[in-house]
This record gives sequence, structure tokens and C-alpha cells, in this order.
Amino acid sequence: MTPFIDLHIHTNCSDGIHTPEEVLERVREKKLTAFAITDHDTLDGYLGVQALLLENDPRLISGVELSVSFENQDLHLLGYLFDHTNSALNNALKEMQRRRSLRGQQMVEKLNRMNVGITIEDVRAVSGQAPVGRPHVAEVIFNSGFTNTYEEAFEKYIGDGKPAFVPKVNFSPAEAIMLIHKAGGVAVLAHPAINETYRHIEMLTGLELDGIEAFHPAHKQWHIDTFKHMAEQYRLIVTGGSDFHGREGRYGDIGSQHVPEKYLVLLQSRAQQRKANA
Ligand code: AMP
Ligand code: FE
Ligand code: FE
Ligand code: ZN
Repeated sequence: MTPFIDLHIHTNCSDGIHTPEEVLERVREKKLTAFAITDHDTLDGYLGVQALLLENDPRLISGVELSVSFENQDLHLLGYLFDHTNSALNNALKEMQRRRSLRGQQMVEKLNRMNVGITIEDVRAVSGQAPVGRPHVAEVIFNSGFTNTYEEAFEKYIGDGKPAFVPKVNFSPAEAIMLIHKAGGVAVLAHPAINETYRHIEMLTGLELDGIEAFHPAHKQWHIDTFKHMAEQYRLIVTGGSDFHGREGRYGDIGSQHVPEKYLVLLQSRAQQRKANA
């Protein structure tokens, strides 16, 4: 059997619903050879899984998903194979967590003005210790009966540009890529088909982006082919994963993207080069 990997997985330490323990159990069931936990703006899920690893477990790669702002749009950058103790990175994540908490409150206020009666305490009850994300808010809106589905909460209220949406104050692409590089890691553009963020590939490559996520549940076969081609053109590595959140929506199940293991080898050699040049 071809060995597969999954380099895009969320836990309930950000906006997934499964604990690090449950995620690890599912990775084992799927017989992946390697995986990365890529929670939004926190390393807690990665550290949680790391603490649970047994000798013959699949290989765990350090990961994180950062949001950056460019031309009033959010781009998601995945960081891999960095030193998780790096203090600049950890401080930056703390700052983003603080901003997320504030922004969560602002979205609740906007929702209240639209007669969606939810509270920040309701959101906190869902997010727990995790940095507050829109999926937590969407879950509360849906569970409180203000929409018929979870997805509808995005469509009506908090999706990009919708009336109760509040943009996060994000790092610039240059800042985020530099943070990852200085921590010895590689930076990859996540799910470039969503909001067509691949349009910014040239700008990002100019900032020394390392890779592009080609395999993702939101990508059709022609996207995968296009992004592999872009990778060749711009000398980028190719990555992929399920973006597992354990929620409905545009995510897949762990292992669902059948990402061949060879891409991990290329990722590792790119990280070696980065570390050599750091
Ligand atoms: P945030 O980082 O708080 O802005 O939330 C972004 C996250 O919300 C993404 O990573 C997805 O998990 C989720 N999300 C954003 N837009 C949608 C949507 N239209 N449908 C489902 N999930 C979405
Ligand atoms: Fe998410
Ligand atoms: Fe994302
Ligand atoms: Zn993600």
C-alpha cells in the first residue's frame, strides 16, 4: 500500500472539535505514516499530540496555520518543521490569540444588534481555552436556533464580508513568512483555491514562500494539476492535507486526500535548506 500523509489537521485547541487524543487515534486508524497538526494561531494541539506519541506512531511534524492580510483579504499560511520553542513565534501567537478574543466579542456585539441573542460566554463555552474562531461563533448561532445549519451561520452572518463579520487584524505576509523562517520552518500557502488566493502567488514567492498546498478537500482535480504546475514554475514544494476539523463544511476526514509520502521528503529537504540559510 502506498504510504500516505496528512499535513493539515485541526484539534479542539483551535477550531476543530476533537481532542489531540482523539485526533491521534484517528491518525493511527488511517495508517498514515506522517501528519501535522496545523491549528490556527496556537501550538497547543501539536504539543498535546506530541506528549501522547508512542514509539511506533506515525511521524508528527510541527505545524501552525497563520492568517495574514493582503488587500483586505485573509490568506492562510501553513508553517511546518519549525522550532516550537522559538520565542518570537510564540509571542506572535500570543498576540494573535489576544486579538482573536477581542474580535470574538465584537462579532457577538454585531450579532446582538441583528437580534441574534448570543453571548461571549456561550462562545467561550464552545471554544474553551482555544483562540476564538468563527467556527465557534457559528456553532453557537446554529445551536441556539438562529440558523438551520452550521454553514448558514457563515452565509447569513459571519462569512467574509457578511453583516456580522469582523476582520482580524493580521500580520502582513512578509511578517508571517519571516516569523516561520526565523523559527527554522517553511511557509506554505494554504488552500489557494478558496477565495482564489493563488492570485497572490507571485507576491508571496517574492517574499520567499516555500510551498503551495495542492491537495485539499476544496480542490478539484484541475486545481491540483494547476497548483502542481505553479509549484514547478515558481520552484515551490507541494503539500496537502484534509483540513480536518471534525465539523461539517468544507473540510475532509483525516487521510482523505491521499497525499503521497514523497511530498514529506521534499518538505524536509526544503526545511534543511532554510535551516542552513537561517
Ligand atoms: P477565523 O480564523 O476565525 O476567521 O475563522 C476562519 C475559519 O472559519 C476557517 O479556517 C474555516 O475553518 C472557517 N470558515 C470560514 N468561512 C467558512 C465558510 N464559509 N464555511 C465554513 N467554514 C468557514
Ligand atoms: Fe479552521
Ligand atoms: Fe485555512
Ligand atoms: Zn485549516
